[in-house]
Amino acid sequence: MVREYLIKKNIKPLFNRIKVLEYLLSHRNHPTVDEIYNGLVGELPTLSKTTVYNTLKLFVNSNLVRLITIEDNETRYDADVSDHGHFKCESCDQVSDFSIDTDKLDTADLDRFKIVEKNVYYKGICPGCLDNKKLRIQEDV
Ligand SMILES: [Zn+2]
Ligand SMILES: [Zn+2]
Repeated sequence: MVREYLIKKNIKPLFNRIKVLEYLLSHRNHPTVDEIYNGLVGELPTLSKTTVYNTLKLFVNSNLVRLITIEDNETRYDADVSDHGHFKCESCDQVSDFSIDTDKLDTADLDRFKIVEKNVYYKGICPGCLDNKKLRIQEDV
């Protein structure tokens, strides 16, 4: 299925490419290049980080994958290319998806601009970390 998808997007379905895309489709936690590489290298011992990086670049250029750059020093990848927002927890570094209705955003000021991509980034503390914090405070008392 992934193979056909790549062909449909005019990408030669090389084995490594199929594996990288499969990884992204099955790991919706917005992994980094390092995470994707570490997740695959056991199965693909000849894989290099450069190959992963170049494959992702190709996918991004072909609109198969989206780049998430909430932090300057950290690039993540998302196989969900529909418009949605990303929330990064500053405590556990998890990136969560949230749905946004981009039609409801007032972008009248951009009427004469061609929009290629819409990114919405939020930061804060996720519910799991908020709960942990509460527990810790209770234990301290
Ligand atoms: Zn968290
Ligand atoms: Zn996402």
